[in-house]
Amino acid sequence: MSLANGRPYLAIPGPSVVPDRVLAAMHRPSPNIYGDDIHDMARSIFKDLLRIAGSTAHVAIYVTNGHGTWEAAIANLFSRGDKALLAVTGHFGRGWAEWARRMGVDVETVEFGGGAAIDATRIEEVLAADRSHRIRAVMMTHVDTASTVRNDIKAVRAAIDAARHPALLAVDAIASLGCEEILFDEWGIDVLIAASQKGLMLPPGLGFVWVSDKALETSRNAGLCTPYWDWKPRVLDDQFYRYFAGTAPTHHLFGLREALTMILDEEGLASVWRRHRVLAGAIWAAFETWGRGGDIALSVADRASRAHSVTGARIGAGGAARLRQWLESTAGVTLGIGLGMAQPGEPTYDDFLRVAHMGHVNAHMTLGALAAMEAGMRALAIPHGSGALDAAAAALVAEA
Ligand SMILES: *Cc1c(COP(=O)(O)O)cnc(C)c1O
Repeated sequence: MSLANGRPYLAIPGPSVVPDRVLAAMHRPSPNIYGDDIHDMARSIFKDLLRIAGSTAHVAIYVTNGHGTWEAAIANLFSRGDKALLAVTGHFGRGWAEWARRMGVDVETVEFGGGAAIDATRIEEVLAADRSHRIRAVMMTHVDTASTVRNDIKAVRAAIDAARHPALLAVDAIASLGCEEILFDEWGIDVLIAASQKGLMLPPGLGFVWVSDKALETSRNAGLCTPYWDWKPRVLDDQFYRYFAGTAPTHHLFGLREALTMILDEEGLASVWRRHRVLAGAIWAAFETWGRGGDIALSVADRASRAHSVTGARIGAGGAARLRQWLESTAGVTLGIGLGMAQPGEPTYDDFLRVAHMGHVNAHMTLGALAAMEAGMRALAIPHGSGALDAAAAALVAEA
């Protein structure tokens, strides 16, 4: 029997849940893109995008997804043959490195595996050995959405400074912006990328790139830069059509305006970060309890290196895939697949899942998803420790 009818809950790490208010804001006739109203709204959006990242520098909006922002960052920073250092903590770091390689960048990767954060001392060593300063940028993911590891951006900046190296710091915050603390100026970030469909609670379709003055300067000599990806007119021009290299993504902008108001002016950024942290803590408590009576474990052992926006876990003997299937067909909850944790054909391929808790997610959605998971484990006779829902509730109350 299915109990899935009712409002479905898509708990995959993007696209995330889109608030009805954001959808309603998009439901309107096309605006005149030559009129003042949309120009004024766009200006307010650029201002708020700087606020949400703690930046006083520049921000560009692209009509693209996260992969497009990868390409934007690479195109504006490098010429063919330039060197990049990529600190990899999962599938998405590997993907960004591959993108840069395919564009002709000489990429050196430092791998930290799929369950641990970047060790900044390793980055410092590599930079210190680069005496001729060939490495133009250190690139990293803040939250790797596949491993669900969260990296310490400040520590990587400190490593660059300690090595007295001029490399820029470029950060993929696609899975964390709007969910976790990010302070662009204070943490010394030069390039930060994000996309609309995760913490910003919009449909996919917009990509964002924050750019420091130093990165802007570097881009003046970037040989890989092409007209569409060039961030200079997008951040410097006062011609409205140049912000978007053509027609503005009008309805996404209406949605974004609403989402930024909800995050910055109504709930407040600090409260948004706190909500994500508390909900994450409830999910960790549940998995830790389940793990005491079964082959179940969180993907990231160190609490301090766990993302607040998405949680990966392993349920042995293919339990993760069976549970996901049951949840979608019987309970109306869709969890994320275990991206990049095992390759298709490997015996452990079906042992991983991810629970997203990014964006428009509250206590009852999180506790409801956990309760549905517990029901699924019972239905499928997946061995698990008892008391997980109590533990989740207790963690939530203690933190909140
Ligand atoms: C989702 C995600 C991407 C890819 O974004 P797309 O919009 O799917 O292209 C890249 N990096 C991270 C960290 C992500 O979470």
